Order: sequence, then structure tokens, then C-alpha cells
Amino acid sequence: MSSGSVQTIEELIRERLEEVKENVNDALGKSGRGPDEARILIASKYYSPEQMASLEKAGVNLLGENKAEDLVSKQERFGDAFEWHFIGHVQRRKAKEIVTRVALIHSIDSVRLIEELAKRAPEGGVEVLLQVNVSGEESKYGVKEGEVEPLLEAAARTGRVRVRGLMTLAPMVEEPEDVRYVFAKMRSIHDRLRGSWGPHFDLSELSMGMSSDYRVAVEEGATIVRIGRAMIEKTGEARS
Ligand SMILES: *Cc1c(COP(=O)(O)O)cnc(C)c1O
Repeated sequence: MSSGSVQTIEELIRERLEEVKENVNDALGKSGRGPDEARILIASKYYSPEQMASLEKAGVNLLGENKAEDLVSKQERFGDAFEWHFIGHVQRRKAKEIVTRVALIHSIDSVRLIEELAKRAPEGGVEVLLQVNVSGEESKYGVKEGEVEPLLEAAARTGRVRVRGLMTLAPMVEEPEDVRYVFAKMRSIHDRLRGSWGPHFDLSELSMGMSSDYRVAVEEGATIVRIGRAMIEKTGEARS
């Protein structure tokens, strides 16, 4: 700590990141995997462009942004400091802006969007995850299990949209154990598709788990967790 008992944002983020890493590594152990086999993505929507420097200094290297406009303005200042992913709902008219700026788009859920991405993708193509809604909540984006294969087929037809795996948003619950079934279901869908689509796509990624439930998600096989609030829970005590 620098002065007295007041933490800077950077110190807070560093401390939180260490805590999340420990929890992730614990959960990896429980799922029979080695340390660092799941990546920690930090949701950048909670940070203004001014606060982004603190993320970099605190050791964050992977960010997920929700909005195309914010992605553009934050990348203008911090483009080289992070690996960038897109985790928000993709509007078709924004696809062009997003596709050249990120290493992975987590939230693809329609054939039309896949076709738009193919049209807008740079020479080397674009990597995506397919968003699946296994809980059946009305309010969530994402496709049902039975609609995943048509998306894989559409992506394969384009030759430019490479599917790297699946993503889900679990319902908000008090008790993380209440959404374990969501993550377990995702893993079984993921395993099945890897079996049948393995020769065509490297479907190794499973993006699931947020601040309230990432431990359970990693126990069930997550390879990327998306963390937001857990990094800033105590910002009331921090100065910027
Ligand atoms: C904001 C966000 C997260 C992080 O959520 P927290 O509950 O704050 O950890 C993860 N995934 C998506 C798609 C988000 O929009």
C-alpha cells in the first residue's frame, strides 16, 4: 500500500486479480486440470478510458468489451496493452467495426450475423464463440442447443468465420450451486460438438462464469471466465 490504509485502484485490482487467480486455480485442480488452464477475462465496461491504465499496471492482459463505441475509444488509447475480446450483443451494423479489432467475439447467435461477419472479416478471417442459452431464460440472447449445429454449418460455409467454442450467460442467482447444472449442460454440449466437429473447427474454448459463479464454472470445464464486479467490489474504499 502506498499511503496510509487507502488503496489505489491499481492496488485494489492487483489484489482482486490475485484472489480470482487463486480461486480459478483451485477450481481447475478440482476439475483435474493444471494451473492457468483457464484464462481470466476482465469485463472493461466498468472502467472509463481514464481508468484503463490501472488495469494494465495491475497486470490485466485480457479484456472483454460490450459496446462497439467503447471498444473503439478504449482501443485508440490502449490498443497494444491488452488482448481484446468482444462479449456484448453484436448488432449487425456494428459488426464491421468490431471484427477488425478483436481476437475473439464471444456472442454470436444467428446465421445472419455469421454471414455479416464473413463479409466484413479481414483477410485472415475472424474467430468466434457461439452463445448458447441453456437455461431457457427469455431475456437472454443466445440459441437453444438444437440451433447450434445450423450455426456451425453456416460458419463452415463461409470459410472465414472460425468457431472456437461456446459461450453462455447463466441466470443471476444468489447461490452459485444453483447454476451448476447450466455449466454442466454446456460442457456436455461442448464435448458432443467437439466430437463431431473436431476435424473442421478447433472448438477448444468454453467461455462461462462471471463474478458470482466463476468457481463453479471452472469446476465444470470453463476455459475463459469473464469477471467484472469481483474486481471492483470495494471501490468505495479506493481512490483513483
Ligand atoms: C459484464 C459482463 C460480465 C461480467 O459480469 P460480472 O457479474 O460483473 O462479473 C461477463 N459477461 C458479460 C457478457 C458481461 O456483459
